Amino acid sequence: MEIINIANSIYTNYLLRFDKDVVLVDCGNNISLEKVEKKLQKYNIALEDIKVVILTHVHADHVSYMEDLLNKISPKVVLGKEAVELLQKGEDQFYSFSSKGNRKLTYLAAKFRGGHPARWHAFDISKYNPIIVDKEDDTSLAEYGIKLVPLPGHTQDSIGFIVGKDFIVGDAIMNSIPAKHLIPLLIHNAEDFKNSYKKLIDANADKYYPGHGAPLSLDKLKENLDFAMQVEEL
Ligand SMILES: [Zn+2]
Repeated sequence: MEIINIANSIYTNYLLRFDKDVVLVDCGNNISLEKVEKKLQKYNIALEDIKVVILTHVHADHVSYMEDLLNKISPKVVLGKEAVELLQKGEDQFYSFSSKGNRKLTYLAAKFRGGHPARWHAFDISKYNPIIVDKEDDTSLAEYGIKLVPLPGHTQDSIGFIVGKDFIVGDAIMNSIPAKHLIPLLIHNAEDFKNSYKKLIDANADKYYPGHGAPLSLDKLKENLDFAMQVEEL
């Protein structure tokens, strides 16, 4: 299995290439399906090779071409429990923040956008019969050696998964500016965030793949544990 990032280091968009099948993680930030198709061609991957789409959580920068993709192909769709309702809303929820600076930043971003939250075309994901992850170590994707886990905190629908010695974590941690100490800008529930962070460490993976920033080691997570345990919702 090979892990490929088809986006960039600030907004990652991973795909896992198995022998024939491809598992896509999230659906990009502000990019059309046509552009994605071109990117895939570089790796000799056709849209039809995507057999699974795992949505780590519903935020605008993770769902960009999702609806268009699902209208073209019929992969298995995997997401967290509250994702169905959130996709139907069609806009980001500004929950709580991990610092006052982050609140200001998000406010400015919204202002720049025209005074509204980040949006996408709202759609009903339930018609694609998604697999809902709401228990530990979900084995719905065992055929790929994937173990799905809920990782609530950043958002309540957040999920991640372990494959081999790798842990794909969505925004449960953030490894790029303006985030500090791996703490995401938005924290919906601080207690859940802390438990998810501990879950990541307990998994003892070799490498962690965040939704934003470069992959990182278990040591880096351990180094920042104290900061993570001090997180509050603001
Ligand atoms: Zn997010």
